[in-house]
Amino acid sequence: MSILVMKFGGTSVANVDRIARAAKRVAVEVAKGHDVIVIVSAMAGETNKLVGFVQDTSPLYDAREYDAVTSSGENVTAGLMALRLQEMDIPARSWQGWQVPVMTTSAHGSARIEAIPTDNILRKFREGMKVAVVAGFQGISPEGRVTTLGRGGSDTTAVAFAAAFDAVRCDIYTDVDGVYTTDPRICEKARKLDRIAFEEMLELASLGAKVLQTRSVELAMRYKVKLRVLSSFEEQTDEAGTLVCDEEDIMESNAVAGVAYSRDEAKMTLTSVPDRPGIAAAIFGPLAEAGVNVDMIVQNISEHGRTDMTFSCPNDQVLRAEKALGEAKARGDIGFEELVTDQGVAKVSVVGIGMRSHAGVAAQMFKALAAENVNIKVITTSEIKISVLIDRKYMELAVQALHDAFGLEKAA
Ligand code: ADP
Ligand code: ASP
Ligand code: MG
Repeated sequence: MSILVMKFGGTSVANVDRIARAAKRVAVEVAKGHDVIVIVSAMAGETNKLVGFVQDTSPLYDAREYDAVTSSGENVTAGLMALRLQEMDIPARSWQGWQVPVMTTSAHGSARIEAIPTDNILRKFREGMKVAVVAGFQGISPEGRVTTLGRGGSDTTAVAFAAAFDAVRCDIYTDVDGVYTTDPRICEKARKLDRIAFEEMLELASLGAKVLQTRSVELAMRYKVKLRVLSSFEEQTDEAGTLVCDEEDIMESNAVAGVAYSRDEAKMTLTSVPDRPGIAAAIFGPLAEAGVNVDMIVQNISEHGRTDMTFSCPNDQVLRAEKALGEAKARGDIGFEELVTDQGVAKVSVVGIGMRSHAGVAAQMFKALAAENVNIKVITTSEIKISVLIDRKYMELAVQALHDAFGLEKAA
């Protein structure tokens, strides 16, 4: 039995015609003799709409109910895809996450997959079913509640199924024909990559390139899943798209492989914090407990025993952060004068394994931004990435300038 996993993102199942088109792609693979597991996203825009309903109803929502609502978009497309395949005389049925079951942690809104028992679906394949259609993005917690895997989580469902079923490949069908040096929608010189290393893809994804969810790349790397990104709008060969693979399997050696951005960032500054041991723990402990994902952190030099502490987090977590810090202040756990929130920032990053051996990438990056008069608010670096926080209005300009500065339109 050779199992192939095919995942269709939101634009690829945006309406019944698109679902019919995706089903035709599935039929091609079935004709080649594969048993296929299809993972579907919700129709494009659907999850955003559902998230909006939740936020309008309850700004500091109960995450379990958030999951109950936001997981529902995938139920619709899974059923429709199975129906479409049946219309084409292909034996198929749908599964919601809890029916498989996709067993996850109880971290609602960003649950991790812990196990996917395969017996149920394998038995159906043995009985003659050709396609198992599974609703992506959702699972079930040990408490028996529906969970979701975080935005973009259907990618992770797909890779987790590919690992659990030892699939020959995991194909991620989306609205671009592969992974590019940067988002082709904001930089017309972006170049499609035939291959990209797991580690680079992991960084690009975690820094905002939403073409693959970060955890899907992590899982593919850990379980050696053959992961490919390709377009659902074009005729495809087995070589199409971008293969995410080991570093050793790539010839290209630009210092920088790609540029990523994240639009929805916020910068928060606590002014005049007493500079004493334990103060960082007293600030970031309550934020962690409130589920705020703190990213960059800067502590200023202190004057007269007081300092400013700045951090960044996703824009939609600002309310939670303000509440957590307000409560910690009221309890007397931390002291600060003001909490200044700037919701108009974006993060732009350059990523490349080649940075390990190339000196001067940071200097080159800062020079390119300076030439465009873009002011840098916060900087962080790691071995293979450099990120800066800037005003959101300069984000696209910065991405384009960096793409030019590192010569990414040409292969190395
Ligand atoms: P899907 O609905 O299929 O999951 P997503 O919208 O989640 O699709 O991801 C695909 C989008 O990712 C593309 O339309 C593109 O705008 C964006 N993107 C960001 N960075 C990149 C990149 N480096 N390469 C390709 N696409 C990228
Ligand atoms: N529908 C979910 C989202 O929009 C999951 C996914 O599409 O991957 O985040
Ligand atoms: Mg996606």
